[in-house]
Amino acid sequence: MLRLEVRPYRREFQRSLTTRHGNWVTREGAVVRLTDAASRVGWGEIAPLPWFGTETLAAALAYCAKLGNVVDAAAIATIPDTLPACQFGLGSALNALQHRPAAPWTPSPDQVCGLLPAGEAAIAAWPALWIKGHHTLKWKIGVQSIAQEQAILMQVLKALPATGRLRLDANGGLTLAEAKQWLAILAPWNPHIEFLEQPLPPNQLMDLIDLARRSPIPIALDESIATVAQFAQLDAQCPRQMVFVVKPAIAGHPDRLQAQLCQTRRPVVFSSALETPIGRSAALALARWSWDHGIPPRPLGFGVEHWFADRWNSLSPDALWTHLAL
Ligand SMILES: [Mg+2]
Repeated sequence: MLRLEVRPYRREFQRSLTTRHGNWVTREGAVVRLTDAASRVGWGEIAPLPWFGTETLAAALAYCAKLGNVVDAAAIATIPDTLPACQFGLGSALNALQHRPAAPWTPSPDQVCGLLPAGEAAIAAWPALWIKGHHTLKWKIGVQSIAQEQAILMQVLKALPATGRLRLDANGGLTLAEAKQWLAILAPWNPHIEFLEQPLPPNQLMDLIDLARRSPIPIALDESIATVAQFAQLDAQCPRQMVFVVKPAIAGHPDRLQAQLCQTRRPVVFSSALETPIGRSAALALARWSWDHGIPPRPLGFGVEHWFADRWNSLSPDALWTHLAL
């Protein structure tokens, strides 16, 4: 039997994060602590993204309250699939407790994709990320007009060193005509454009597949794939060259995600769901495990630490836990 404790958090962004889902000002989630009879501790984090189809934080906290203060592995294994962030938070805490992982893995900067600010700010922002060692950079599109964004992109592409790679992320915000227009603009820049991510919303899967079949620029899916079940379903349907973005923190039980990743033969990019260092360690451990088990490494979508106004990234799990009680 394990003691379950949950502490919710609210975390302010340095400046609000602009996506086509609107402005995101505060990240909310919860840290989970499991303690066994020998007083050993396993940490986990519930970091929901409701607009990706996960539960809300309120639903996650209500479920944890229903579980009570004492849980076992069977209770964690039977958290329903409608609560994928809970599955990950408690599942990774249990794994940490049972397998006693070595020191958390820290990827080198060139193993991490840097996140550029949206709009014109990208032009001034990329050199600092490059100097830090991020040679793959991500930029959100679909925020301004195509003409404005194309002009900004051309400035960045012409200035970027030859080994630089850009990922463009539309967060599902383009029309089919706009997606085709973008792919025509980008075609001459292959391979400097690593991929165009989620040009269309998830409900236009057949169009996304069609774009992927015709375009020299690879198409990546992100919003289309939140959970392990969606990964499995789309893995069977989508052409092999399509890139799948996996956010472990919202994918569900870590063991089930690992099993699914062992079966796939497509490019996979692991990405942050903007977790605290606790969720980040668990998600990165899963990425590292996958690289060691046949998934070819691609820069991780974890270049997001500088987006928060706090110093949590330098805190140990114990220190963060104490802070959350204040
Ligand atoms: Mg994305």
